[in-house]
Amino acid sequence: MIYFDNNATTPVLQEVLDSMLPYFSTLYANPSSAHLMGIEAKKAIEKAREQVAALIDADPEEIIFTSGATESNQAVLHTIRNIHDMMLFTSTVEHPSIHKVAEVWFAGKIKRLPVDSSGIIRMGEHEIDSSGLCSIIWANNETGIVSPIREALSWARNSGLLFHTDAVQASGKIHISVKENPVDYLSLSAHKIFGPKGIGALYIKDGAPFEPLVIGTQENNFRGGTEAVPLIVGFGKAAELAKSELSWRTARTQTLLNYLESSILTELDGAYINGSDSERLPNTTNIRFPNIDNDSLVTMLSQRNIAVSASSACLSSAIVPSHVLLAMGCSYEAAEQSIRFSLSHLNTTKEVANVVTAVKDVIEILTAE
Ligand code: PMP
Repeated sequence: MIYFDNNATTPVLQEVLDSMLPYFSTLYANPSSAHLMGIEAKKAIEKAREQVAALIDADPEEIIFTSGATESNQAVLHTIRNIHDMMLFTSTVEHPSIHKVAEVWFAGKIKRLPVDSSGIIRMGEHEIDSSGLCSIIWANNETGIVSPIREALSWARNSGLLFHTDAVQASGKIHISVKENPVDYLSLSAHKIFGPKGIGALYIKDGAPFEPLVIGTQENNFRGGTEAVPLIVGFGKAAELAKSELSWRTARTQTLLNYLESSILTELDGAYINGSDSERLPNTTNIRFPNIDNDSLVTMLSQRNIAVSASSACLSSAIVPSHVLLAMGCSYEAAEQSIRFSLSHLNTTKEVANVVTAVKDVIEILTAE
C-alpha cells in the first residue's frame, strides 16, 4: 500500500510501540495506586507530559491528556459556553470537531470569520462588542493551509478575546511554540504524529478559565477517568521524536511533495492546486482534476493499492463537498473534483513516481468513459 493519507492518521512508529508495550503487560498499575507499580505508572505519565509540553514549548503543568483532539477542542468550547454571554469567533474552515459542535452549542452566539480564495482567514472586519473566545485552526487538515496565527492572536487580544487553536495538523510538521504565540488553549492529537489513536492533549495556559468536560479527580481535577497509561506513554515518545526529528522530516516531506506537485502539474492538463499561493504544510496538497469525480478517483486509486482522500465528508450517507473548499469560493463542482494527498517522511520518491503514473492512468480511464 502506498499511503498518502497521513492527515487522516499515521502509523505508530516501532519505537513508539516499544515504549508502550510494558504498560500493557508488566507495568499495568493504575497510576492513582499508592504501591510501587502505581508510582511507576504515574512517573511514566509525568515523563510523557514533559515530552508533549516540549513539543510546543509549554510547561508540563499546562498540559492535560484527553481522549483525542475532538475532546480537547470540545472541552474548550464547553468551558466558554458555561461563561455567561461568551461569543464564539471561529472560521469557516475549522475541523468538524469544532465546526459541528459550535452550531449546536453556540447557536445565535457565533461569528464565523471568512477565508479568502487563498484559504487565508481574514480578521479585523468585525466589531467586537462582547467577550468571548476566538478559535482558529493552526493548519487546515484538507488543504494544509497555515493560518496567520500571530495576526489572529493579536486581533483576538486587541478585541479582549480568549484564544484557542487546533494545532493537530500543524504539530510535528511545523515549529510550534506557545511562548512565541501565547495562546490560551491548544489542541493536539497523538495519532497524527505517529503515536496511538485515542489519546490527545490540551494545553491550558496557566490562569486561563477551564471547566472540565469529563469530571473527576485525575489530571489535577481537569479530566476524570483512569489515565490511558500506554497511550499516554506512546504519545510522549511520538512527541519527543516529532520534536527531535522535525527539521529532517520536514525537509524530506517537502522534497517529496514538491516532486509530486510538479509532476502532476506538468503531466496532467488542467490540474490545479487549491491554495497554491498560500503558506502550506510541507506534507499536504489538495489538487483539483477538472472533470474528474473525486470519489471515483479515490476508489480507483485504492484498487491500485494507493491511499488518498477526497475532500468530501460523508454526512448521513450523502456525500457533501468539502466545506473548506466551498468557503474558499470553489464551486460545488470544483470541490467535488479535488483530492488530498498527505505525505510523510516515511514515503519515498519511487512511491511518488508510482502515484503520478497511477493518477494519469486512472484519469485516462475516467475521461474515456
Ligand atoms: N482537528 C483536526 C484538524 C484534525 O485533523 C483532527 C483529526 N482528523 C481532529 C481535530 C480530531 O482529532 P482526534 O482524532 O484525535 O479526535
